[in-house]
Amino acid sequence: MRGAILHAPRDIRVEQREDPKIEQPTDAIIQLAATCVCGSDLWPYRGIEPVDGPAPMGHEYAGIVEEVGAEVRTVKPGQFVIGSFFASDNTCEICQAGYQTSCIHRQPIGAIGTQAEYARIPLADGTLVATPGVPSDDLVPSLLAASDVLGTGWFGAVAADVRPGKTVAVVGDGAVGLLAVLAANQLGAGRIIAMSRHKPRQKLALEFGATDIVTDRGDAGVAAVKDLTGGLGAHSVIEAVGTQESMMQAIRSARPGGHIGYVGVAHDVELPGQELFFSHAHLHGGPAPVRRFLPELIELIWTRAIEPGRVFDLTLPLDQAAEGYRAMDERRAIKTLLRP
Ligand SMILES: [Zn+2]
Repeated sequence: MRGAILHAPRDIRVEQREDPKIEQPTDAIIQLAATCVCGSDLWPYRGIEPVDGPAPMGHEYAGIVEEVGAEVRTVKPGQFVIGSFFASDNTCEICQAGYQTSCIHRQPIGAIGTQAEYARIPLADGTLVATPGVPSDDLVPSLLAASDVLGTGWFGAVAADVRPGKTVAVVGDGAVGLLAVLAANQLGAGRIIAMSRHKPRQKLALEFGATDIVTDRGDAGVAAVKDLTGGLGAHSVIEAVGTQESMMQAIRSARPGGHIGYVGVAHDVELPGQELFFSHAHLHGGPAPVRRFLPELIELIWTRAIEPGRVFDLTLPLDQAAEGYRAMDERRAIKTLLRP
């Protein structure tokens, strides 16, 4: 099969890879209907995260089950399935509490690399959720979005304790930030402040339910949120970037007693203890337990209540993965969908 391999910073090639096969009786092999490039793939792509030799890329996936191991019970060949970026058993105490990305048996899908024609998914029963049928083509991008960016934005909103009528601020206008706006809207937020300085992203944020746009960053961005909230700050803030600046902007944009849901993968973030102490902030976040939300998200997509696939503004054949990465790196594209 063909698959995307990162050889060195900014050197992505689609090459022949070995066909995956069942290794454990709990595995499934899926044929990817679509896959995509994640904002977090840009960290190794840019050389900010070290790459140890040629690495298969991709951790988002949706497709048709080809084959299952002898112990797989809940999915079968021919079904269309979606899973999260960590495989999980969905039975351990941590999974049962809703934190499947910290499953005691978790396995990173990123090490398998789903920017490819096929993928082996471990712990298939716990990881994969089947859709009610094989979807029409136009639903595939939205179902693929549920694999990570929608689930991550949704967890950001839940972790930020978004509630009906409350004011939410979203730091970050990548796919996750934009889908956090969608999630906050679905969860009934009264006011949603999207922080973005890019016109096409502002437009999508407004279509997803944002009521206000703040173009300033850092201290000026915080001041703008305070201005919009009677000087208090937002009830809920979703952080979807992962830098020192974005994290502090999120914490400072929340009112005392407010909640910050942080889902941007943190890189060199250090929190000042004393400021945190006096902020009265609730901090909750981490790698989103997307599996917790998948059944609900699939239902919303299947009934066309939401269309998260709109974050894909570039669709390319898998063979052009390199251009897909470049376009996101240069912020020419919000998110690239790859068709194997
Ligand atoms: Zn588990």
